[in-house]
Amino acid sequence: MVTYAVELENVSKHYGSYEVLKDITLRIRKGEFFSILGPSGSGKTTIIKIIAGLVSPDRGCVKFNGEDCTNKPPYKRNIGMVFQDLALFPHLNVYENVAYGLRIRKVDEGEIREKVFKYLELVNLDPKIYAKRRINQLSGGQQQRVAIARALITEPSVLLLDEPLGALDFKVRQHMAMELKRIQKTVETTFIYVTHDQSEALTLSDRIAVINSGKIEQIGTPQEIYEKPATKFVASFIGEMNFISARVENGEVFSEIGRVRVKKLNGSREFLISIRPEKVRINDSAENSFEAVVEEVNYLGSHLLLKLRVGNAYLKALTPSSVRIKEAEKVVAGWNSEDAILLEA
Ligand code: ADP
Repeated sequence: MVTYAVELENVSKHYGSYEVLKDITLRIRKGEFFSILGPSGSGKTTIIKIIAGLVSPDRGCVKFNGEDCTNKPPYKRNIGMVFQDLALFPHLNVYENVAYGLRIRKVDEGEIREKVFKYLELVNLDPKIYAKRRINQLSGGQQQRVAIARALITEPSVLLLDEPLGALDFKVRQHMAMELKRIQKTVETTFIYVTHDQSEALTLSDRIAVINSGKIEQIGTPQEIYEKPATKFVASFIGEMNFISARVENGEVFSEIGRVRVKKLNGSREFLISIRPEKVRINDSAENSFEAVVEEVNYLGSHLLLKLRVGNAYLKALTPSSVRIKEAEKVVAGWNSEDAILLEA
């Protein structure tokens, strides 16, 4: 039998009459990098706080290693936390910030020193240079590293990270994201990572739960979420997507841009055909092909993002920039039915 690092079973939460979380069930495996991804206000932080024991659910339970911990206080849950406002102690130096969790556990000084050095090295802060620095003498990325070392030093079974990179500049953010992944692979601790940034979730995670308005829309690997979105919300929140409405009549499929072929009908009469821009083929034979006019060409370096008008509808298409295409040009745009995802309208 699999025991999970963390399980939420049918967790609900209200604030007054407002239902923040609706029947959330999540099973997070040991050693997994698990992301909770959704727009601002969707309930991500509330989930993390319920896992941490900082907020109690109205209904449902929280388990750690198969044990019901719903009523356990945070300090008995063997978790570490890194939040966006890092809550580092400004009056203490790096060494003392990282040592904090061991000091309050009354660990002896020799062991503290050994572990502080070990965890500073893990996060790539040379102890010889940084141990004595004050927090305000560090860059944003370095403060982030201190916060991670401080959270990991007590060797928690689960590390909770709530938008930890939110305050960093784009480049530093990208770099720290890769650092987090490296650190997680080294320590093999279960990481539960909250973010509204879909590209961050796709690159970092083993699995992702996509949440919208307090409900889970889909749980899956980055590839499953991107290639087989279960709902229109997931399809539009992650990456770019074209949606074409379609209906079935006498066994044939008519879309807003004309008759099309689909891979497999699911029984519903009205549905959406979803196609990623990179799956739209330009001047190339495709099962479903239409005459189109190029309305916009956006140069992205390696690729062009085209806005195509097909009848009264628009399609976004991504094509290598080696293909020369100009505005107002007439092209043939299309897709193969195996590249389309059919979703509920
Ligand atoms: P996210 O982390 O996805 O941005 P949150 O979990 O922080 O979302 O919040 C979800 C919703 O719950 C928001 O609409 C927020 O305003 C509301 N909320 C969060 N905490 C409280 C609270 N203590 N009291 C009342 N409403 C809250």
